[in-house]
Amino acid sequence: RKQIVSAIQPTGEPHLGNYLGALKQWVSLQDQHDNCVFGLADNHVFTSKITAKQVRQNTLKQTAVLLSLGLDPDKVILYKHSAVLQHTALAWLLSTAATSGLISKLRMLPQYKEKSQVHDNLGLLTYPVLMSADILLFHGTHIPVGEDQNIHIEFCNSIAQYFNRAYKCEVFQTVSQLLTTSPRVKSLADPSLKMSKSYGKASGVIGMLDTDDQIRKKVKKAVTDSFGPITVDQDERPGVYNLLLLLSAVSDTHFREVCRKYEYRNVVELKNDLSECLVGTVGPVRDRALELLGDIGYVEKVLSVGAEKASEIAEKNLDSIYRTIGLK
Ligand code: ATP
Ligand code: MG
Repeated sequence: RKQIVSAIQPTGEPHLGNYLGALKQWVSLQDQHDNCVFGLADNHVFTSKITAKQVRQNTLKQTAVLLSLGLDPDKVILYKHSAVLQHTALAWLLSTAATSGLISKLRMLPQYKEKSQVHDNLGLLTYPVLMSADILLFHGTHIPVGEDQNIHIEFCNSIAQYFNRAYKCEVFQTVSQLLTTSPRVKSLADPSLKMSKSYGKASGVIGMLDTDDQIRKKVKKAVTDSFGPITVDQDERPGVYNLLLLLSAVSDTHFREVCRKYEYRNVVELKNDLSECLVGTVGPVRDRALELLGDIGYVEKVLSVGAEKASEIAEKNLDSIYRTIGLK
């Protein structure tokens, strides 16, 4: 049986990269599986610098965006990780199974190297252990996340094996990643970086709550090059290539078709068409989300109902692990 598990960190407002790389898939998966578990990974946010007010606001905003994208709390479990204490309890047990091979791997992980330059802490280093617990607590088998999570999914599989070996059991199965057709959306301000909530220039990030004006301005300012009319060359013209990819993803048109249509045309035309397409996609999502945010009570209710459902499963699963390893 497939078990879908995924999460997003309330480190900021959700952006186009989150949407195209993960969230879009969450919405389609809810109709194919009756057991999707989607979380707001709020335990993780303190690995970055963040205030209590920001955490609260981001959590509500992200929930509102998820609902306005069409995620149905009657079909999926949608909850905050912090409301289910078993996440951190399992993370501890997993950490005791991770010996030298995995310890040395943690320091080499690219996300740790990038983020620790801004704000270093032990949680940031061991973040993949907690992320593994987030997945394994629900016996996740299929994880819809972006390409940047490849290495963390690999880590999750390793730590699950270490655990099975250490405790001489077969508690955890193999986990596989479910990628979309846009698994790595690049920043508009720097096409060598991924679009991200917590690092890189804000001008490179299209937020799912951005106004039409903000979207148009950001696309207009998107970094390209001075080579003239459009040609398709990922290495020499990464900025232009990124805009073509985005238009293909947002308009649901085959990449080759988009390239054929825009080749030898002016970059400004591509930017204009992309802007309007993005406004058409993000606009209605934003408007619905803002409407939902006018009724915070409803959004909070969704999360508390979700937490109850998640807790029930988490308690049962951790209990069974406790029995296996002798804590019960
Ligand atoms: P942060 O900078 O705080 O880590 P983030 O933008 O990376 O924020 P996460 O909450 O870490 O967002 O990730 C949520 C989901 O979005 C994950 O599945 C992640 O793989 C995916 N994702 C994040 N950025 C991108 C991107 N640029 N392209 C595609 N998918 C992405
Ligand atoms: Mg991230």
